[in-house]
Amino acid sequence: MPPLSWRHHTLIQAVLSRGPLKENDFHSIFSDVTGKTLDSHKRLFNEYLKEINRELAYVQFELRACRNQYDGFVYYGVINTVADEQSKLGTKYSVPQIAFYKGIIEAIVQDTTARGTISNIEALNIRLENQVGSSEIPPALKNFSMSHKEKAIHEFIQDQWLCATSDGNIGLGVRSFLDLRSWFHNNEVPKCDVCNEAGIKADLCPNENCTVRIHEYCLKAKFSLTRNEKVCPGCGTQWPYVVTKAEAVEEEEDDTEVHQQPPEPLRRKTSRGSRQVQEEGLNEPSSRRLKRSRNNEDQELAGQSQSQSSTQTFRKAKLEKLTAVEVDNGGPGPSTRRATRTSTRLHR
Ligand SMILES: [Zn+2]
Ligand SMILES: [Zn+2]
Repeated sequence: MPPLSWRHHTLIQAVLSRGPLKENDFHSIFSDVTGKTLDSHKRLFNEYLKEINRELAYVQFELRACRNQYDGFVYYGVINTVADEQSKLGTKYSVPQIAFYKGIIEAIVQDTTARGTISNIEALNIRLENQVGSSEIPPALKNFSMSHKEKAIHEFIQDQWLCATSDGNIGLGVRSFLDLRSWFHNNEVPKCDVCNEAGIKADLCPNENCTVRIHEYCLKAKFSLTRNEKVCPGCGTQWPYVVTKAEAVEEEEDDTEVHQQPPEPLRRKTSRGSRQVQEEGLNEPSSRRLKRSRNNEDQELAGQSQSQSSTQTFRKAKLEKLTAVEVDNGGPGPSTRRATRTSTRLHR
């Protein structure tokens, strides 16, 4: 197999040195180094990714894409595929910091209301003791003080393992979305009914007895098709969602056109969180759907619910090894899985 060219190297180095890159930025770099636009050279782009990943696999890295569930944007990043969090995070973080990170991630994904965030106070109150399997608590964990926790949160946000939302809460960072896809799956984090990816920040069906949750951008994709009824795909309950004229899309979409969505003007709060919707096309092949979207991050984050109480209702669960193996970020078609709301507890 031919060695990678300087073009491949430039792409890898851009992602490594600048951290996860927004899709548009990554595509621009691709166009700059190859002289080819992505729209007309999608196959070439995919070949580049494949070639890059073939080489990166030797050193247990992988270039992949994922969607940030808070802003709906797709990001490209390189992740460490070694199935052990110590080797992923251990070069930079201490043992108690890693335990703390795991505790925060668990608390966020176990939230039944799918806000995708916890408050700073909730994060600081996470008990590291619960992260160790044995009865013997290592002294390093016992001595991990509030100020250590504050400092760790700050570092995790800086490094994009976590993010700070505009309403002052803490959510998953882009790196965690990139890195934890398999872990979400293995721990049965409830999935979005449309794209089948973990629904960490999602809207819930208004029917309390129904377990359907849908990403806001997937809702928009689904409901902006004028033909589709605005009802829950699981139970048929009316879904409180209004499609604006700008969002309404006729069934026969133009495959090559990139739809730049204006910032979503409609924002309605419900008891469980915001009903913000922002993206279309999630049922399309990832190559195409990645092009669309786009919304204003601040508005999105501002739309998150303030209510925090239910996060506490879950028991602690031990994190599985943070494995990450998939190449593709693409969601398959409509979900066939239905998790119950109570099953958001992570499995031991
Ligand atoms: Zn989805
Ligand atoms: Zn429903």
